[in-house]
Amino acid sequence: MPWKGEKDPYKIWLSEIILQQTRVEQGWEYYERFIKKYPNIQKLAKAKQDDVFKLWEGLGYYSRCKNLHHTAQHISFELNGYFPTTYDTILNLKGVGPYTASAIASFAFNLPYAVVDGNVTRVLARFFGINKAVDTTEGKKHFSQLAQHLLHKTKPALYNQAIMDFGATVCKPQLPLCAICPFQSHCFAFKKNNVTNLPVKEKSIIKKNRWFYFLVITTGKHVFIKKRENKDIWQHLYEFVLLERSHKTNTVSLLTDPDFKTLLHAQPKPLAVSTEYKQLLTHQTIHAYFLKFQINNKKDLQGFEKFSIDKLKTIAFPKLINNYLKDIGWK
Ligand code: SF4
Repeated sequence: MPWKGEKDPYKIWLSEIILQQTRVEQGWEYYERFIKKYPNIQKLAKAKQDDVFKLWEGLGYYSRCKNLHHTAQHISFELNGYFPTTYDTILNLKGVGPYTASAIASFAFNLPYAVVDGNVTRVLARFFGINKAVDTTEGKKHFSQLAQHLLHKTKPALYNQAIMDFGATVCKPQLPLCAICPFQSHCFAFKKNNVTNLPVKEKSIIKKNRWFYFLVITTGKHVFIKKRENKDIWQHLYEFVLLERSHKTNTVSLLTDPDFKTLLHAQPKPLAVSTEYKQLLTHQTIHAYFLKFQINNKKDLQGFEKFSIDKLKTIAFPKLINNYLKDIGWK
């Protein structure tokens, strides 16, 4: 991984923000794109927010991107470009939690802060036979105190990297390599034949279903779009006119819906209705349909921007909308 052994706090911070909620294989490519376009924090701070979002497009959890840009500006313009060098000041940065602060503090400045991620808690839970749920306040506190106690105080960066790598490659979630593990004879879970039951989790995530009906309203060579500004998924990305429902709805009832009538008084029939596009997020599943309309009058839609179809490539959309745009040849 390109960030391994890295000492530059900007690059460590960038990689850690990208890797929050993203797999390494996916994040790697984005990290390289960011470093190429914004090789230092000043370049990132001076970039336009829409350009940063465009580069982040497809990575999800867009509040990370907003915080990334905000923090780059804060460090460049308010801290004279100097990255904070203590755990507490790093933790004060927007978008940085205890895990990321420990990673930056130990990897960039070799400060004695234990990094506690899923890999680390798994190793500790199995090795010591800890039955406390890792996703409870009590469990989190227990694992972070234990990790801090075990940390090699003079080589924290090396220790943190080692235990994280060990969890990722040997003491893996599925099929851990116990047969070749050097800790076998001391590992509680292995000796008690309890490896598959640890770590313990209290909650299983209940997913919510949402149905998005996008009205792709064109007028000549333009289409109506707007930026999502609400505190919701895909904040700051663009979308078409959206009617959201909590259940699956057929096109006929959608077109007789008062929301639709208010929006398009003339009530045109859709030119095409797409098949379902689905996106699985951590806490919700989005089911989306796209209904294409052509309106001839020169009317504007309040709150929407009339945007050239040829230039949609330059706009950051959620992955699901991008898939639709590719399928209809607009991207
Ligand atoms: S013996 Fe198995 S469960 Fe125990 S630390 Fe090694 S890989 Fe993990």
